[in-house]
Amino acid sequence: MARLSGLSRSIAGHAAIITGAASGMGQATAHLFADEGARVVVADLGADRVDAVVDEIRAAHGSDAAVGVVTDVSDPAQLANLVSAATTWAGRLDIVVNNAGVSLPNSPFMEEADFESSWARTLDVNITAHARLVRLALPYLSESPAARIVNIASTEALVSTAGLGAYAATKAGVIGLTQSLAVELGRHGITVNAVCPGPIDTAMTAGIEAEAKATYARRRVPLRRYGLPEEVAHMTLNLCLPSSSFVNGTHIPVDGGMSVRHT
Ligand code: NAD
Repeated sequence: MARLSGLSRSIAGHAAIITGAASGMGQATAHLFADEGARVVVADLGADRVDAVVDEIRAAHGSDAAVGVVTDVSDPAQLANLVSAATTWAGRLDIVVNNAGVSLPNSPFMEEADFESSWARTLDVNITAHARLVRLALPYLSESPAARIVNIASTEALVSTAGLGAYAATKAGVIGLTQSLAVELGRHGITVNAVCPGPIDTAMTAGIEAEAKATYARRRVPLRRYGLPEEVAHMTLNLCLPSSSFVNGTHIPVDGGMSVRHT
């Protein structure tokens, strides 16, 4: 077993881009990765929000631990700037976490203009950006000794809620994209996996009344609660460890058992 125990369980020194890192699961992932010694690129909308997370991480781990790059992931030019700024800062790129996402109402009963705009925005942010960022990061990831891509999907890819058609379509698409990239990039030593969070307490679910959340969790989630952002971040970290070197093309629910519940 000497060979197996030689596999590293550390991402210390690895450079990671995390999109949507100013809030929720992305923020928790940025903190956790920095706690583990990685150098973290915090990408999100809004300079104040990005700076706040970078300041938190630097206060804990020093000025070299994080950098912020204000990025709208739906804009290809801003994605190119993100990769350029990240690799100039870190001199390498080992990990991309495609986490930024929006959950907009989208239903065939909507007025045409609302339907079209929520459909287009959801596709741009939740899936097209993932494919674009991977494409831009590829030359740098190919040079990494432990290149990892983690795409944040959702249990909405596996089971569905009415009125979230575009969201469900993109999250199922993220699983398809993950599988295709895993097959294509394996020969370059890059693993690609997806995480499917269930209901998690973040800004995205903050608009749901506490009572409604509690009722939902009691009825639907075997663990009878919403998850915490850091519980998802830990799964993302696990997939990014050098020791996860043979995990490729999977999608892993982190949902307290919700998606396998029958009655
Ligand atoms: P959140 O709202 O706290 O964080 C999402 C972040 O993405 C925000 O900081 C937001 O500014 C950023 N973002 C949105 N559009 C962007 C854009 N165009 N460019 C750059 N950044 C952008 O929500 P969260 O729950 O932490 O969501 C993180 C991921 O997890 C999303 O992909 C979401 O779909 C997914 N997810 C969330 C839940 C949940 O219950 N909260 C469940 C399953 C999956």
